[in-house]
Amino acid sequence: MGHTALVLGDQLSHANPSLAGADRVLIIESRAAMSRVRLHRQRRHLVLSAMRHFAAELRERGEVEVVERRGVARMGEVIAELGDEVVCAEPNSIPSRTALARSGRVRFIPSTQFLTAPADFAAWAEGRRRLVMEDFYRDQRRRFDLLVADGGRPEGGRWNLDRENRRPGDASLSAPAPWLPEEDEIDAGVRADLDAMGLPETGHDGPRIWPATHAEAVRTLEDFVAHRLAGFGPWQDAMVGGERWLYHSRLSSSLNLWLIDPLDVCRAVQAAYERGGVPLQSAEGFIRQVIGWREYIWGMYWLRGTEWREVNALGAERPLPEAFWTGETDAECLRATLADVHDTAYAHHIQRLMILGNLTLTLGVRPWEAVEWFQASFIDGAEWVMAPNVAGMATFADGGVMMTKPYAGGGNYVDRMSTYCGDCRYEPRSCPVTALYWDFMARHRDAFAQNRRMRGPLAGLRRMDEARLAALREQADAWAGSLGGAG
Ligand SMILES: Cc1cc2nc3c(=O)[nH]c(=O)nc-3n(C[C@H](O)[C@H](O)[C@H](O)COP(=O)(O)OP(=O)(O)OC[C@H]3O[C@@H](n4cnc5c(N)ncnc54)[C@H](O)[C@@H]3O)c2cc1C
Repeated sequence: MGHTALVLGDQLSHANPSLAGADRVLIIESRAAMSRVRLHRQRRHLVLSAMRHFAAELRERGEVEVVERRGVARMGEVIAELGDEVVCAEPNSIPSRTALARSGRVRFIPSTQFLTAPADFAAWAEGRRRLVMEDFYRDQRRRFDLLVADGGRPEGGRWNLDRENRRPGDASLSAPAPWLPEEDEIDAGVRADLDAMGLPETGHDGPRIWPATHAEAVRTLEDFVAHRLAGFGPWQDAMVGGERWLYHSRLSSSLNLWLIDPLDVCRAVQAAYERGGVPLQSAEGFIRQVIGWREYIWGMYWLRGTEWREVNALGAERPLPEAFWTGETDAECLRATLADVHDTAYAHHIQRLMILGNLTLTLGVRPWEAVEWFQASFIDGAEWVMAPNVAGMATFADGGVMMTKPYAGGGNYVDRMSTYCGDCRYEPRSCPVTALYWDFMARHRDAFAQNRRMRGPLAGLRRMDEARLAALREQADAWAGSLGGAG
C-alpha cells in the first residue's frame, strides 16, 4: 500500500521525492493562504495555473489518484479529513514548514529541489569569518563539473569573468523578443476563479507570459539559449527603457516552482558554450547565477532562519512609500521600473538591486516591509529568496554578513548604466537619487568609517561643500515625502 503525497504549489516536479511510491497525490489551493497577503495578480495566476496543469499531467499519466481541492479554508483540515499520514518534501519556507508541522499528520522527507541541502550549506559556512559567495561558487563549479577543464582548473583560466560583463545600457540595444506561452482553458478557469474570489491584489492582469508547465519552461530555456544567452554576460548589468527582458533568461519563476531543474538548465548552457557561438563570459556568468547566487541565497535563508525578520543593522525606520504600490513618481528610473513590475511582475536583477533596492536602502525603508513589497510584487517571489536578497543584499540590514559594502548608487551610476536619465526631468548630478545617496552616506558615515570599501564615498562626502550637502539632504527629505506615506 502506497502513501498520500502532498505536493505544494512550488514543488511541481515529477521528480518530487514525495511522489515515489505514492498511490494518491493531494494538491490543495488554500484560500486562507491566498487571502493573507496582497500579491501580484500575475503571480497568483501563474501559481494556480501551474498547480492545475501539474494535476492534469498526473491524471493523464494515470499512475496515481489525484485529489485536487480548491478554495480550501485551511490545509490542515483537508489533511485531517483524509485520515492517513501524508508525505511531503520539505517545504521551502519557514512559515509553510511550521504550518504543516502543526497539523501533526505530515511527514517531511528531504527535498531534492535545490542542489545544496541547508545542512550542507551550514557545514560549508561553519567557522568562516565571511560567507563570500565567490568561495561557495567555486566549490559548486567543481562539485558539479561545470566549466571545469582537466585538472580541476576553471575553463578559460579564471573562475569569474564578471569584469568583462559590465556593458552599459544603450538606446540602440535591442534583444530578440522571447518566446511566450499561450493561455489555454486551464488559464481561463483560473482567471474566472480569481475574478470571483476578489483577493487582495497588486499589478495588472494580462495574458499569462510565464511558463506554467515543464514543457513551457523547457521551451523558455531553449529559446533563451538559442537567442539571448550569448548577450547575457556583456549586458547583464545594462538597463534600457522599453527593453524589459534584454538578455535575461526569464527562468526564475520556473526554477522556483520546480518546473525545471537547476542542473538541467546549467548543463544546457554549458552544452551551448561547448558547441560554440556562446562566449565563455556569458556561460560562466549565467551558471554563476544559478549554482552560485541562487544556491547561496537558499543556504543563507536557512542559516539565519527567523532572524531575517528582525535584522535592521542600519536602523531603517521609514515606512515603504505608497509610490511603490501606485507607481506614481517623477524620477524616470523608478517610474519605468515600477511600470515594468506592475505590467509583468518582473524587473531584471540590476533594476531590482540598483533602482528598487538602492532606493529602499537610501530612503531607509524598514527592511521587512521592503521584503514584503518585493514578495508581493514579483513573479518569482518567495520568502526564501526575498529575505536574503532584500534584507541582506539590497538593504544591508544584516550588517554586512553577505555583502562587503552596501549597494548604494547615485544618479551618475544610473546614468552610466541605463537610458533612463535621458527621459527624466532631473539632471543626474542633482536628481533625487543623488540627493538620497549623499543623505544616506551622511546618516551612516560613522557606521561605515571602518569599512575599507567605503573609503571612496566617505572621502567624497568630506570633500563636499557643507551648503551643498545640506541642500541635497533637504531635497532628499522633500522627495521622500513626495512618494507618499505607508502603502
Ligand atoms: C532586491 C532583489 C530581490 C530579488 N528577488 C528575487 C525573488 O523573489 N525571486 C528570485 O528568484 N530572484 C530574486 N532576485 C534575484 C534575481 O534578481 C532574479 O532571480 C532574476 O532577476 C530573475 O530573472 P531571470 O530569471 O531573467 O534571471 P537571469 O538574469 O536570467 O538569471 C538567471 C537565474 O539566476 C538565478 N539568480 C540570479 N541571481 C539570483 C539571486 N540573487 N537570488 C536568487 N536567484 C538568483 C535566478 O534563478 C535566475 O533565473 C532578487 C534580487 C534582488 C537584488
